[in-house]
Amino acid sequence: MIVIENCAVATVDAARTEYSVGHVVIGDDGRITAVGAGRADAVDRSARLVDGTGCLATPGLVNAHHHLYQWVTRGLAQQSDLFGWLTTLYPVWAGLDAEMVNAAAAAGLGWLALSGCTTSTDHHYVFPPGGDDPLAAEIEAARLVGLRFQPCRGSMDLGRSAGGLPPDSLVERTEAALLATETAIDRYHDPSPGSMLRISVAPCSPFSVTSTLMRESAALARRRGVRLHTHLAETAEEEQYCRATHGCTPVEYAEQLGWLGDDVWLAHGVHLDDPALDRLAATGTAVAHCPSSNARLGAGTARVPELLAAGVPVGLGVDGAASQEAGQLGAELRQALYAARLRGGPAALTARQALALGTVGGAECLGRADEIGSLEVGKLADVALWRLDGLGHAGIDDPVAALVLGPPAPLALLLVGGRTVVEHAELRTADAETLAGQAARAHRRLLALAD
Ligand SMILES: [Zn+2]
Repeated sequence: MIVIENCAVATVDAARTEYSVGHVVIGDDGRITAVGAGRADAVDRSARLVDGTGCLATPGLVNAHHHLYQWVTRGLAQQSDLFGWLTTLYPVWAGLDAEMVNAAAAAGLGWLALSGCTTSTDHHYVFPPGGDDPLAAEIEAARLVGLRFQPCRGSMDLGRSAGGLPPDSLVERTEAALLATETAIDRYHDPSPGSMLRISVAPCSPFSVTSTLMRESAALARRRGVRLHTHLAETAEEEQYCRATHGCTPVEYAEQLGWLGDDVWLAHGVHLDDPALDRLAATGTAVAHCPSSNARLGAGTARVPELLAAGVPVGLGVDGAASQEAGQLGAELRQALYAARLRGGPAALTARQALALGTVGGAECLGRADEIGSLEVGKLADVALWRLDGLGHAGIDDPVAALVLGPPAPLALLLVGGRTVVEHAELRTADAETLAGQAARAHRRLLALAD
């Protein structure tokens, strides 16, 4: 049993209940057994007591979009838009091997943990021919760091010679991609309650995937009861591509392919007109908002307040670190708020709405809102305890405002299923310096191959 007391608590439950001084109690099964105001009662003698004075307890953050392998290709193509950036990076990514992906994923996940993330997805779609298994490599990294993980088996089968953007050497054959995706489900997907590892199906984007692979991927995911993910409506150029190639908008194209539904979450959703927004809402399709990546690539600003008003589930994603070098999910709370207010004025998004995007919104994207994303009795004990009494935050009375509007807050404690991953702002499951060294070496090896 773990008892966290004397802290502010933002539960992010349906009523958005908060306690200015409260407690969270965690049972030995890794689930929350009590949350409320004041002190916890009936504390077990053997319980681990955590004094949360000066801290805010929130649900652990849920990252709804990432490409962990990109951790070893940061800082490149600095002034490019999406298509130029991809065209620069595809040949570099062609040299990826499993060891590099493992190093990148361990570093990226360790860094995510230090910013309050307890569950992350990943979207891996680069499978160089004849290479080893990058999905296994990133799963091993997630086990090491100790985050709850929902990687997507991604895919690309539309090379340049067929009208796509990626080089032909980097795409798979359609049948091979589908077979490998089903194999990944067989091998790794754990649907059980409290699962640490679930697989989703994620052909990459309209300009790198054939309509056949999109349709067949949807059929496969539904036959196997797993979720669907892809990039959609990220840039104006993507919309032009869809109109020129398919005669419709990206959302209309997705709908034709069976790709709208409450088992689908889309990365970005930046360029959405009102009819598109209505179709997402009517079908229960979720959106992973990636405000820093969209800013880095100059892609535009998603209509998050309108999406929320329409009832679309919206989560937050850091996106791959090659288009978002900072890679911290905690910082995306503030970036989401800023992005919304730059478009819609100071009332466009509140600090509490930003926190909800990063917690329960992400849980909805991943289809796990019944187990994670809020602090409630019976839910998994994925808890972030943020220290708000230091130089960067002391004196901001509203703890949620301090967390979202203030600088990235250090973590007093980060628990995943009750297990300590971060304590006193340090990673406990792995050595951060070792992870950094491995990532730097993998980066140098990959760039040497690309020369
Ligand atoms: Zn992405």
